[in-house]
Amino acid sequence: MITAHRGTELHTLGWPQEAALRMLQNNLDPEVAEHPEQLVVYGGTGKAARDWPSFHAIVRRLESLRGDETLLVQSGRPVGVLQTHEWAPRVLLANSNLVGDWANWSEFRRLEQLGLTMYGQMTAGSWIYIGTQGILQGTFETFAAVAAKSFGGTLAGTITLTAGLGGMGGAQPLAVTMNGGVALCVDVDPSRIRRRIDHGYLDVEATSLEEALRLAYEARDARRPLSIGVLGNAAAVLPGLLALGAEIDIVTDQTSAHDPLAYLPLGVEFEDWADARSGPGFADRARESMAVHVEAMVGFLDAGAEVFDYGNNIRTEALAAGFARAFDFPGFVPAYIRPLFAQGKGPFRWAALSGEASDIAKTDQAVLELFPENESLQRWIPLAQRKVHFQGLPARICWLGYGERDVAGLRFNDMVASGELAAPLAIGRDHLDAGSVASPYRETEAMLDGSDAIADWPLLNALVNTASGASWVSIHHGGGVGIGRSIHAGQVSVADGTALAAEKLARVLRNDPGMGVIRHVDAGYPEAIATAERLDVRVPMREG
Ligand code: NAD
Repeated sequence: MITAHRGTELHTLGWPQEAALRMLQNNLDPEVAEHPEQLVVYGGTGKAARDWPSFHAIVRRLESLRGDETLLVQSGRPVGVLQTHEWAPRVLLANSNLVGDWANWSEFRRLEQLGLTMYGQMTAGSWIYIGTQGILQGTFETFAAVAAKSFGGTLAGTITLTAGLGGMGGAQPLAVTMNGGVALCVDVDPSRIRRRIDHGYLDVEATSLEEALRLAYEARDARRPLSIGVLGNAAAVLPGLLALGAEIDIVTDQTSAHDPLAYLPLGVEFEDWADARSGPGFADRARESMAVHVEAMVGFLDAGAEVFDYGNNIRTEALAAGFARAFDFPGFVPAYIRPLFAQGKGPFRWAALSGEASDIAKTDQAVLELFPENESLQRWIPLAQRKVHFQGLPARICWLGYGERDVAGLRFNDMVASGELAAPLAIGRDHLDAGSVASPYRETEAMLDGSDAIADWPLLNALVNTASGASWVSIHHGGGVGIGRSIHAGQVSVADGTALAAEKLARVLRNDPGMGVIRHVDAGYPEAIATAERLDVRVPMREG
């Protein structure tokens, strides 16, 4: 069993290396990872290292890596140590990347079986996954936006129907109840339902669909928040509920539909899934079931519900299986999130390398004091403090934008320097961020200028973070929506209290979200142009 080192004793030659080691270990902590024994962290088969020999070799190399060396990781396997310099990242990672014409699941799986690659998802292979909280805040914001758009600012008195209670999807029930609503959540895996209840993300499990509906209606009528898990295959349960005329207000989905092998088709028992997966035609059967599932979602849309794709690419798979109306409902980014991205806002996160929850409590207080005018932050932090159960190293996430992240990072670095915090912090983010991803079915769906599939932006983002002094930088392919459908980049920077860390943080935490502003200015978004003008982001084509 892997757990991250805690405390102030170093097992490496410096805090940036120590942070990389602890965050890699943390990704595989059984409290954090969905299947740590297979190195799978979350999101279908998103892994932290290619195989166990690679994991142990990465650990050994990090333990001896000097402050002027850089470790290269190619799809979860350490392949080189290079002489660089102290401003260079200590680790550079490239995961799951394939040349365009080869970028499909079958070729990827073939290469994976040969032991040549691994699926890195977004924060699995880049060592900055912090458990379900990581997605909770984004999910909370999304449901808050749904409430603002269609339900008078609250989900009280509404029922949300969704499926998938995995590493990411498990945030949905809590995000809905935090917004005052009732959530009805379907999953085929009983252990996922139990795990979400154990971690305080899900309130109750219903033993039948009838009981689930009764509980949901009672809570809705009393305007009482409640989340209900129910065991079943979404491709059967959703059409069943539609046929029953169930009164559902909002419908979405977070099964692992981005990977047909991670979606259980109709007619396959949960117990037989692992064996059936390697059999012929499994992926086609999964797609056919997704078409049935999405058809029911469109049925709810026709019945007046607010319906959106929650970033798992289920619409594309349903379309591939022949359901022509799959794209009748929008993705969540164009529907709710893009105005935030245009201001460089996105999921900023940090982990306490000390292992002390009190370090996070102190940083929570610091961000509340730094940004009194940021209303969603002021609402989120107290809710998170009450409801979020830490998994692995204590960590916090909140959405901060351009001009905010560097202020927070420098404050944190001062807190480490003064001894207010017990040990340094690892400060990073999801790859799902303002300027770090090209993903035409999710983050860059329906861009104003049609630039959805342009993948120069995440590559520039990784180069910018490397040039600005990040502690580790990653470029991945296929996260979130699957192989062939996205390119994205990540960075993690360590606040170890030194003057050098302050210099690096000032640059990385400004330039990284700055890429979000620049990308959206280039695409013509008014919110981005206003942000650039207000905060002096230099955009040559607008400088005359
Ligand atoms: P996961 O693999 O940990 O969980 C998926 C869950 O779906 C599992 O519990 C599984 O049992 C369940 N499932 C599979 N087939 C099912 C079926 N037919 N009926 C009911 N349940 C079924 O994945 P995750 O990390 O929770 O991610 C879920 C999806 O959301 C992925 O596609 C991921 O790429 C996507 N995602 C979206 C965002 C976002 O911001 N919107 C972020 C990260 C991931």
